[in-house]
Amino acid sequence: MFLTFDVDQDFSIGADDYYNKSKPIFKGMQEGMPRIMEKLQGTPFSVFLRADYQIQQLYGRYAYVAEKHEDVIDDIKRTGGEINWHIHTYERMGAEWGQIIDENKLVERFEEDYENVRMLENIDANVVRVGECVMNNLLMGKMTQLGVKLDSSALPGRRRFDEAKTFDWSRTTNQMYNPSKTDYQVTDNIHFDLLEVPMTTVQMKASYDEKPIQRYFNMAFHTDILFQEMDNYIANNQYLVTITHPYEILNEGSHSLIGYSIDTFAKNLSELVQRIQLAGKRPIFKRIGDLAYENNFAKLFSK
Ligand SMILES: [Zn+2]
Repeated sequence: MFLTFDVDQDFSIGADDYYNKSKPIFKGMQEGMPRIMEKLQGTPFSVFLRADYQIQQLYGRYAYVAEKHEDVIDDIKRTGGEINWHIHTYERMGAEWGQIIDENKLVERFEEDYENVRMLENIDANVVRVGECVMNNLLMGKMTQLGVKLDSSALPGRRRFDEAKTFDWSRTTNQMYNPSKTDYQVTDNIHFDLLEVPMTTVQMKASYDEKPIQRYFNMAFHTDILFQEMDNYIANNQYLVTITHPYEILNEGSHSLIGYSIDTFAKNLSELVQRIQLAGKRPIFKRIGDLAYENNFAKLFSK
């Protein structure tokens, strides 16, 4: 089990610009992460921390989020956590910020950000999650060439091409794999020596859904929705990659999918452990970055 936490700018619940692209604030990091660590009680976990062009532009340096929250960073490292890299590939669009769509521009942005972030003390730039599930063959190749060992941007079974998001992981499964050089979504014999570890997706139906859809396993979701298909998943799979934004456990509002409650997070954690044990399995928690540095990891998951 890999518990992962993306430290992004706080969301604006109810606002048009839900992701708050133009005004990054980080209460989730300052107040959310400490509450999560209190509940984890030393259980290993992984943080993906924002450091990228947008942060540099708005605050003057790539290391802003890390430096601003040094006390939290220290606690993460002290309590069994690790800090990996979370990049959002945004560009200025007039007064706003938006996702870079052009593939070449995207790769250029990634490379420039990588060269800056790899110099930072507290972030492992070789274990990456790209924001908004952005990926293409060119970027996967560039990441490998730069030295990235593990990517965890995949959202299996999902694709979106609309105004808000552009990504395609529709043919990817929940299994970790070495991405094919000609199709990042799957593996084959000619693949990159980089390990793709998808965020686990499971069928869930929220009150506003017409039918169930594949959603990432977010420990901040309401328990009844999160576990709808989970017994089935546990019975048929060997691992789980959860993803939560620390902001989603703060008491910031009500949402029909996200609990906005640390109690919901804690309940989900114990529910998960219980269900795994009931299925006759033993839950083992690891840091996702550990997979990147295991010997011969590239071969372990090849066909
Ligand atoms: Zn993000």
